[in-house]
Amino acid sequence: MAGAGAHEPPRDVLGPVAGTPAFDDDRPPSRELAGDCVHCGFCLTTCPTYVLWGEEADSPRGRIHLMKAGLDGEPLTGSAVRHYDRCLGCMACVTACPSGVRYDRLIEDTRAQVERRFDRTPRERALRAAIFALFPYPRRLRLLRGPLRAYESSGLRGLIARSGLARRLGPTLATLEALTPRLRAVPRPPRLVPAAGTRRAVVGVLTGCVQSAFFPDVNSATIRVLAAEGCDVVVPPGQGCCGALSVHNGRLPEAQRFARRLIDTFARAGVDHIVVNAAGCGSSMKEYADLLRDDPAYAGPAAAFAARVRDLSEILVELGPAAERHPLPLTVAYHDACHLAHAQGVRAQPRTLLAGIPGLTVKEIADPEICCGSAGVWNVLHPEPAAELGERKARAVLGTGAELLVTANPGCLMQVSAAVRRLGGEVATAHTAVVLDASLRGLGAAALTSERRA
Ligand code: SF4
Ligand code: SF4
Repeated sequence: MAGAGAHEPPRDVLGPVAGTPAFDDDRPPSRELAGDCVHCGFCLTTCPTYVLWGEEADSPRGRIHLMKAGLDGEPLTGSAVRHYDRCLGCMACVTACPSGVRYDRLIEDTRAQVERRFDRTPRERALRAAIFALFPYPRRLRLLRGPLRAYESSGLRGLIARSGLARRLGPTLATLEALTPRLRAVPRPPRLVPAAGTRRAVVGVLTGCVQSAFFPDVNSATIRVLAAEGCDVVVPPGQGCCGALSVHNGRLPEAQRFARRLIDTFARAGVDHIVVNAAGCGSSMKEYADLLRDDPAYAGPAAAFAARVRDLSEILVELGPAAERHPLPLTVAYHDACHLAHAQGVRAQPRTLLAGIPGLTVKEIADPEICCGSAGVWNVLHPEPAAELGERKARAVLGTGAELLVTANPGCLMQVSAAVRRLGGEVATAHTAVVLDASLRGLGAAALTSERRA
């Protein structure tokens, strides 16, 4: 375990202090919600940054204390911003809190204030501008597939990994290089796939940004599983980003723009439910009512939209199994993605689906509440502590002895796979949808373990 202050970002990543007070009147963190914290400390041991550094200001309670100070007129200092920035937004503290403190709302509103009011350094602004010019745009991400596949197939990737060149170019580049998954060639999904047998629902599928560019096989599996379970599956074209990355990083106007577009896109599709297979996206889409609460034209549609959003595992358990499950004699470790378990409270459904596959055994991972360090783009913005959290999770996964790691978020798959490789371990990885698809199609366990090594 690192000591207090380990991996502290250099001071020059923080810009000059903005004028006082810390927050303006445009959606400041709620004084009432902050007041719900009774300082009991039950959240501390579930907070990854407190676990890493042991500092009060890097705990949920400490950050709420800073917010209260800001609401009382304290300025937005570089030190306070550093502690807000270090929060992964994993929401483990929301699960742990016996007083029901809505830390999720508090940190989102705080981050929006920081993004508008705090003057970051040019280096910090440039990195964030690059991230947000790329990641929320699926078409731009897809353009990277060709060069990345050439990089992989030319052998250059292995050469660079062995030489340590990426590490010498800096932790951010090394992290991006290590996270890049092995890309699979998968045809674009059709716009409509009819239900097999009796139709039980009409669903729309969110294809996502990172998911559609780097894990198109997960989208294909999601569509096949839904159709096999009796859903007419609609894949609306031109979906764009759901805004999760933007809202989690305080870019409120951008997130609202993405949300309005997605609401319009799915309104035209005429579906009963919007099905999501990426935990971070699903948790944000379920919060659209709050995101657009001040928009008279969209507040109502946003609430109606949010009520129809389902994680893939939720809709499948709601419908109940219809298609035959073929055996998969495998031991799998199931990893709770934070934005599925903590933010959406979806823990039982994926386990129920996996337990319904004949021959498959599910193992639990130690310290499941502690984030793997992916957290959207947190691992790119904070590469060193993210690597430490990733390796902690990888060791816990390897400790289960499972042959396959299963989770429901592309970020977690990339983060834990990279950490397993760094540790010299070996475990195959797959999204829950891919495991179910393999069972429904009778592909056998080797289809999951032989080509999916981390
Ligand atoms: S969201 Fe996660 S990192 Fe942030 S304070 Fe809560 S537990 Fe800690
Ligand atoms: S568990 Fe809840 S009430 Fe207790 S210190 Fe943490 S946030 Fe505050």
